[in-house]
Amino acid sequence: MTAVLMDGKALAAKVRAEVAREVEEIGVSIGLATVLVGEDPASAVYIRRKQEACREVGIEPIDHKLDESLSEEGLLAVIEELNADDRVTGILVQLPLPEQIDEDRIIRAVHPIKDVDGFHPTNAGQLFQGNPTFAAATPSGIMELLREYDVALKGARAVVVGRSNIVGKPMALLLLAEHATATIAHSRTQDLGAVTKDADVLVVAVGRPETVTAGMVKAGATVIDVGINRVNGTLVGDVSVDVRDQAGLLTPVPGGVGPMTIAALLRNTVRAARYQAGQLAFPLDGR
Ligand code: NDP
Repeated sequence: MTAVLMDGKALAAKVRAEVAREVEEIGVSIGLATVLVGEDPASAVYIRRKQEACREVGIEPIDHKLDESLSEEGLLAVIEELNADDRVTGILVQLPLPEQIDEDRIIRAVHPIKDVDGFHPTNAGQLFQGNPTFAAATPSGIMELLREYDVALKGARAVVVGRSNIVGKPMALLLLAEHATATIAHSRTQDLGAVTKDADVLVVAVGRPETVTAGMVKAGATVIDVGINRVNGTLVGDVSVDVRDQAGLLTPVPGGVGPMTIAALLRNTVRAARYQAGQLAFPLDGR
């Protein structure tokens, strides 16, 4: 069997067109503040792509490039300004942050109604309780890809490898919400291959090349490769190439999950603007 590749690039283009129409229809101005601290080249590329996608759909990107040496208090002050600025309807802080800054503190400082990444405990908690406001972009984009390819989730065995707050945990919650039997595996999981081989839907978000090989995959399974690793100058995922002969559906790297992450971010950004315009009810005011 050779897996059908799930074309995240094509679906993301479709989503962008939909979002552009929605932006026109709702008639409120939408501004996404992008905050980048330091010079990390990969982060700079991600920010640029997100800003380009915003422009394409009629969202104004508001660029904040800050010095690598910025203190935590300094960044908190910037976030407070953005929270108070009506032109800014969404705030995105590119992670990772320099080591002198406590990421959790910054995540909590972003007002939940502008938290388009869905990382604030209020929004993460809403997802946990089954009433999502902003769900994290990467898992949301993956859900859209699974829907597009008609992947059956109800009653399916879904295994997520990786338990970060950004990808693994929200991914498992979204799969659970669609009635999959969701399992989360991680670095302490014993006999990872036995766990992954049980999966009808396998999401791998580890950040290590070749974490999952063909022998660890059920024949015909849907395999979502979230990993982005640079090996000898080439981008590779967490899933080895031989999985193509074992999976039924597979996301390529690049061109699978990455574009869908940005597409989902755009959807969240529009949602934030609609909450603030009173077109949608945000369930909580405070933090
Ligand atoms: P983290 O480093 O935060 O989490 C990695 C997870 O993988 C941890 O839970 C860790 O377990 C687990 N893990 C590490 N080694 C193993 C192993 N050998 N076996 C099983 N589990 C293991 O990473 P992120 O979740 O932020 O990102 C994961 C990957 O996805 C990265 O490559 C990242 O670049 C990529 N990514 C891609 C995006 C996209 O748009 N395509 C967006 C976001 C991330 P433990 O908790 O026990 O340490």
